Amino acid sequence: MDSYDVMVIGGGPAGYVAAIRAAQLGFKVACVDAFERNGKGSLGGTCLNVGCIPSKALLDSSEKFEMIQHEAQEHGITVDGAKIDVAKMLARKDSVVDKLTGGVAFLFKKNKVTSIFGLGKLVRLEGEGWVVDAAGTEVLAKHVIVATGSSPRALPGVQWSERIVENSGALTIPEVPQKLGVIGAGVIGVELGSVWRRLGAQVTILEALPGFLLAADAAVSKLALREFQKQGLDFHFSVRVESIVDTGNSVKVTYTEKEQAVEAEFDRLIVSVGRVPHTAGLGAEAVGLELDERGFVKVDGHFATNLKGVYAIGDVIGGAMLAHKAEDEGVALAEQLAGQSGHVNYDTVPWVIYTTPEIAWAGLTEQAAVAKGLNVKTGQFPFSANGRALGHGDTRGFVKVVADADTDRILGVHMVGPNVSEMIAEAVVIMEFGGSAEDLARTVHAHPTLSEAVKEAAMAVDKRAIHA
Ligand code: FAD
Repeated sequence: MDSYDVMVIGGGPAGYVAAIRAAQLGFKVACVDAFERNGKGSLGGTCLNVGCIPSKALLDSSEKFEMIQHEAQEHGITVDGAKIDVAKMLARKDSVVDKLTGGVAFLFKKNKVTSIFGLGKLVRLEGEGWVVDAAGTEVLAKHVIVATGSSPRALPGVQWSERIVENSGALTIPEVPQKLGVIGAGVIGVELGSVWRRLGAQVTILEALPGFLLAADAAVSKLALREFQKQGLDFHFSVRVESIVDTGNSVKVTYTEKEQAVEAEFDRLIVSVGRVPHTAGLGAEAVGLELDERGFVKVDGHFATNLKGVYAIGDVIGGAMLAHKAEDEGVALAEQLAGQSGHVNYDTVPWVIYTTPEIAWAGLTEQAAVAKGLNVKTGQFPFSANGRALGHGDTRGFVKVVADADTDRILGVHMVGPNVSEMIAEAVVIMEFGGSAEDLARTVHAHPTLSEAVKEAAMAVDKRAIHA
């Protein structure tokens, strides 16, 4: 039987990063992953194959199309007869995915991580190690890392079909639907809804909650909702979906909105109502791996499960279901196994939504800080007063800094506007170092850049922003 120091089950951002870091630290590592694309094993998990990467590729293509059609004219550029070739756009997205998933395979080779395609299953404890069934062959491992990720949540009684799709289906719709329904106004719903709206679909988004993006700072969600509605996304809140029927050439959805029964018909329906932990096929029950009441693998503060030598990281342990959180857990765990002090600071994990305008935040919202009983002061700076944003022709949004009124320490930074997905990194770094609004306000920022809005928002905390 082959034996390894570390056997990773799942090759997504949590698992492949843990495998590479463990190999760098001198462990003999193997990774077994069950994901298949075009009939072949493909590393990178949900994120690289059917999540972060392909969705951003489509967001970029559709944003360019919208820019050429509508915004270019403001810059004096007229393009007549702009057309979208959906097949080519999807092929480009697939080639981006191929490059990145192939890149992980290359990194495995470079770091001497043994890659096995197929299902991984915990079998039994044998001496000091675990026997794992890796794609039908038993191997022995001193440490096992469960990084089996998550799957889309299905609505009870609703079957996936060509017209009723979850995230992977939404990334391969072969032509622009005339009428697209989206169930769920979360990150994935608004991103994918935006893609198809930009390409010409009439998009209706049905959400069970009473408001939009309730986890974000209230000022951010208010502005973002207004912008998305201006673009034509048709939001309905406090909706209770009663039935979804694929009629063969359309999808009929009946729902209740504010006590009114509504019947709607769509060409396609994207269901994006959250994700559930994926533990099917892992053999969890047979070996007694403890899950919580929602099906997440239970871990302690060091990613250890109830089984000696078995650890878990990424979406399958819950918390923020984000690729960068999963990756950082992979690094931290590998370092802990090597006797180092790997650590993830969950208080500064950034959240990003790649719509137009983009939305990004890290740390506490003003509302959450107040609810915690903290004495809070805030500063806000609009992109309409930022020279670079004016030059771009995109002045929607603002940066808001939330600081502790007693210590000046930054508690959270919230942004909505152009390129904020990149700008949030600065906020994360300063919060990681326990910086104050004063520290940020006194840091030189290049002119003219969008990031000057971050500095000015920090200055606005003490009412001394210069340009607003
Ligand atoms: P996964 O990526 O789900 O990987 C788990 C892997 O384990 C899979 O390959 C699976 O096939 C495999 N597996 C499962 N069970 C077994 C088994 N028994 N044996 C072998 N292999 C197994 N996050 C962001 O941070 N930014 C984004 O922009 C973003 N966009 C997203 C867009 C969409 C449409 C979706 C769906 C998700 C998005 N996410 C984004 C979330 C992100 O994809 C996940 O948080 C991330 O992939 C979690 O990584 P993971 O390694 O824990 O799990």
